[in-house]
Amino acid sequence: MESVDILIIGQGPAGLSSAIYTARAGMRTLILGCAPKVAGDYEIDNYFGFTETITGKELIERGKAQAAKFGADIRCDRVLGIHQNDTGAFVAKTEDEEIEAASIILATGVSRIRPGISNLGDYEGKGVSYCVSCDGFFMRGKPVLVVGEGNFAANQALELLQYTPNVTICSQGKELAISEDFLYRLEENKIPVLEGKIVTLAGEIGLETAQLESGQQIDAQGLFIAMGQASSSDFAYSLGLIRNGQFIETDREQRTNVPGIFAAGDCVGRFLQISVAVGEGALAGRAAISHVKERRRTLLDKEAK
Ligand SMILES: Cc1cc2nc3c(=O)[nH]c(=O)nc-3n(C[C@H](O)[C@H](O)[C@H](O)COP(=O)(O)OP(=O)(O)OC[C@H]3O[C@@H](n4cnc5c(N)ncnc54)[C@H](O)[C@@H]3O)c2cc1C
Repeated sequence: MESVDILIIGQGPAGLSSAIYTARAGMRTLILGCAPKVAGDYEIDNYFGFTETITGKELIERGKAQAAKFGADIRCDRVLGIHQNDTGAFVAKTEDEEIEAASIILATGVSRIRPGISNLGDYEGKGVSYCVSCDGFFMRGKPVLVVGEGNFAANQALELLQYTPNVTICSQGKELAISEDFLYRLEENKIPVLEGKIVTLAGEIGLETAQLESGQQIDAQGLFIAMGQASSSDFAYSLGLIRNGQFIETDREQRTNVPGIFAAGDCVGRFLQISVAVGEGALAGRAAISHVKERRRTLLDKEAK
């Protein structure tokens, strides 16, 4: 498995700014993520130092070139899940590979995808969940639905098989974006994929059924939301990070409550602007460098004993 010092998830202003600091400090730095939303022909004229309007696309290209100049490795790949192994390192599973990192900076921006199920909130904690590794255990042997159209949903559905054989994916009316490899594994494991849209949920004490727009009712005691790509909130659930709504809580140094995990930019939810993302990215980079150095010292001390 590939191993890096610092894995940065997000190729927007926060992630690239972090990478400039970490790579320049000699840390093996990998940035995962693809073009952020702002990297289009949008005119940015409130970012420091540019008297001429610059497009979001050019600003991001410049940030990437600068991070790469200091040795950061930048790849367009999506992270599906993260866990911590018994050495305290983090392992990120992506669409293409698994990567081990001593520290992680979350710079995934904000996710605005909502499933559009009318009474979803009524069943949160009563069957509706956002985290297979947290709540999959409670669904042993029960029928469950995974709501999502892409590889993130496919990966969550496959993970649920360790608890129940009765798993169905519902794309929530969206066009399927599941790769060939995942489609093959879903078929192999007999996980059906419905392309309908769930409109409402029902059940007396907990979730019992989901009703599709077509009127069809599906038995489901669990419903896992996994729409679009995994977001910082999804990683927060599985890593036990403290959140405030959909945002990650950090201290002034961008440290989360889990040592080794830092967060910066829109996913922290302060002032959703490029300048703030860049500033928080720098702080997160600095804090991650300190963490990696401290971890190296601890590991050397252990070896010496
Ligand atoms: C159209 C538009 C115009 C804007 N105009 C301005 C402006 O004029 N001035 C201004 O200051 N701000 C502007 N903003 C806001 C600004 O773009 C954001 O505040 C800023 O981009 C936040 O940076 P970020 O790095 O936190 O997140 P983002 O820029 O959103 O980057 C998030 C990154 O995370 C990656 N990612 C997410 N999930 C995963 C995953 N599971 N695996 C791997 N990677 C993942 C994405 O691919 C992306 O690379 C604008 C935003 C938009 C959308």
